[in-house]
Amino acid sequence: MKKRFIIDAHLDLAMNAIEWNRDLTQPLRDIREREMNMTDKADRGKGTVSLPSLRQGKIGLVVATQLSRFRPRGSSLPGWHSPQQAWAMTQAQLAWYREMEKINEMVQIRHLSALEQHLVSWADDTIPDEDKPVGYILSLEGADSLVDLSYLETACDYGLKAIGLSHFGPGRYAPGTKMEGPITAQGIALLKAMNELVGTPQQLILDVTHLTDEGFTQALDLYQGPIWASHHNVRALVPTQRQLTDEQIRMLIDRGAVIGAMLDCWAMDLRFIDQVSDPWQLNVRLEQILDHWDHICQIAGNSEHIGFGSDLDGIFGKEQSPHDLDSISDLQKYDAMLKRRGYTDIDIDNIFGDNWLRFLRSAWQ
Ligand SMILES: [Zn+2]
Repeated sequence: MKKRFIIDAHLDLAMNAIEWNRDLTQPLRDIREREMNMTDKADRGKGTVSLPSLRQGKIGLVVATQLSRFRPRGSSLPGWHSPQQAWAMTQAQLAWYREMEKINEMVQIRHLSALEQHLVSWADDTIPDEDKPVGYILSLEGADSLVDLSYLETACDYGLKAIGLSHFGPGRYAPGTKMEGPITAQGIALLKAMNELVGTPQQLILDVTHLTDEGFTQALDLYQGPIWASHHNVRALVPTQRQLTDEQIRMLIDRGAVIGAMLDCWAMDLRFIDQVSDPWQLNVRLEQILDHWDHICQIAGNSEHIGFGSDLDGIFGKEQSPHDLDSISDLQKYDAMLKRRGYTDIDIDNIFGDNWLRFLRSAWQ
């Protein structure tokens, strides 16, 4: 079967390169082999993402993050002890993306003409996919590392296109997953600063993933620019605060958002317990994400608001991924699965990338 072009709206590539010490230019088997005797992280030797595996899966465009948290005194979550250290880490991550650009492994996509040009080059069958750079749109997952609002301008200058205010735990701009409560005063000031960029070439996409329920409503209220949910599943199927309620899904659809499905077993199957369960034992399969997609399609009345936001390198690997996925290139398996469920070719193209493209073309016009 001819592979379709795929967009994955959430990967933490630079975090893996810098903090996990993974050379993502190498094939997965080599990355895994070098980690065989390492025990510092739960996903050692089990990674599913590398640049060759992205190309193999025709995943030619990704939203790639800078991710670095601040850890306040008393918090047990990992993170840096000062915002300045967190900022420095995001700059190391940026430096890695730049190195990937220098050797033609990746190319940064920061405006519409670059996007269209990139799509044309990936559509060219005379060049093998292995020789094409993976396009990336830069996103900041959790804004802790912006030391103050003046750092936003610096970030826009180097091509930051999307921001999520929070990640896990307490955040300087907004509390995140597993927390409750509103966006902080500093977060409200950041949304106001982002509002001032709406309609300019520097306009940012607000990523609502990882907000609290209160923060979610506030963010939609306060932000006037484009909004997406980069990696987010359905709370009706997996009832934790990390996923979207039907009401939140409706609000996102009203704003023209696209919701990226995440392939973390914990976010797919309510039986799965983080760091305890085994995907084989519980028989967690790729196909289960179709239930999440179906649910959103039923609310929307169409297939225009869903896509991939796999998060497959987000602090987990095979031990927390569907057992019929070995590498991110297995996203191509969804073509046949969606057909079996009655999705048309147009629906499948929508899900594989056209929805994100429609969103980006509208946001960046
Ligand atoms: Zn995340």
